Amino acid sequence: MATPISADRLVTALRAEGVRVVERSGWRSHNRNHKGPFGPVNGVMIHHTVTSGTSNTVGIVERGYAGLPGPLCHGMIAKDGTVHLIGHGRTNHAGRGDGDVLRAVIAERALPPANEANTDGNTHFYGFECENRGDGTDPWPKAQLDAIERAATALCRAHGWSAASVIGHKEWQPGKVDPKGFTMGWLRDRVSARLKSKPSGGGGSAGGSGGGSSTYVVRSGDTLSSIGKKLGVRWELLAQANKIKAPFVIKPGQKITVPRKVSGGSYSPPPFPDGLAPGRSSPSAKGLQKALKDTGWLDRSVPLSDNYGPQTQRAVAGFNRKHNLFTTGRPNDPAIGRSGWKLLHQLAYGK
Ligand SMILES: [Zn+2]
Repeated sequence: MATPISADRLVTALRAEGVRVVERSGWRSHNRNHKGPFGPVNGVMIHHTVTSGTSNTVGIVERGYAGLPGPLCHGMIAKDGTVHLIGHGRTNHAGRGDGDVLRAVIAERALPPANEANTDGNTHFYGFECENRGDGTDPWPKAQLDAIERAATALCRAHGWSAASVIGHKEWQPGKVDPKGFTMGWLRDRVSARLKSKPSGGGGSAGGSGGGSSTYVVRSGDTLSSIGKKLGVRWELLAQANKIKAPFVIKPGQKITVPRKVSGGSYSPPPFPDGLAPGRSSPSAKGLQKALKDTGWLDRSVPLSDNYGPQTQRAVAGFNRKHNLFTTGRPNDPAIGRSGWKLLHQLAYGK
């Protein structure tokens, strides 16, 4: 039993497991929470879509259809192995199923047959819809099966579940046949084996640099910010991982390491200090300078000092400009504010 993980954590967990992720616009707040609870969550449910064509399928699971409004899943796993994130929160994928099955999932023991529809599955399961016609002849490409295995593993790992928490829709709701084309026993064996080792994905394959690789090759027109958006990684973390300093210039062909660190969420920044202001002397200025160095805004060679001098001011102004943090309401604001202090420390130390 567990509280659902956040959207950010889901993205991080999937990428850490080597899944290529596409975040659909608005997916973080696309849900059916107004219709009932999502959570406590107990497992992961796998489906096939009975559709063909990836963009068509994404559209259907996003919108739903007459009588079954979307989102119809949390993620849609396409034939090429890409996981398209569709919704976060309660989604319309599981329907009513067998409470005995839910109890078996919670206890992580063998499943009884699904012969009742007395329990709301949308409360208790994450759902992945997999692009397949579901006719038993439509092939399941290796890349897709691999992504299904990794996506299910990512959630089990995030929650500390075993592979017994991964079930098929047909194991939940009487009358369902999905997924068809592989057995859930086979999938659980794969998830179980994968859980025994560390996540093996890095940042997923990025920029065509090969499966499992965690490097991205810069293309013409890319900026750290655009790459960060594309890969769902804060651009500052890319800058840090590659020791790229202000003004954060990159060149086509340059190889960028995509950090594989999983967000711990346990870091809290030091309290905002009193008396920290441009031109003034304060012992807190050293902490500010250190965080500016650790995020690439201030050159390492600048000595730490109690003085909030011109170099510190220039670095803070650049940081404020980049994040639209103007405590005085004007650009080139050299003063660090509360939110800037917090963000700067999170970027420097909150991985
Ligand atoms: Zn289904």
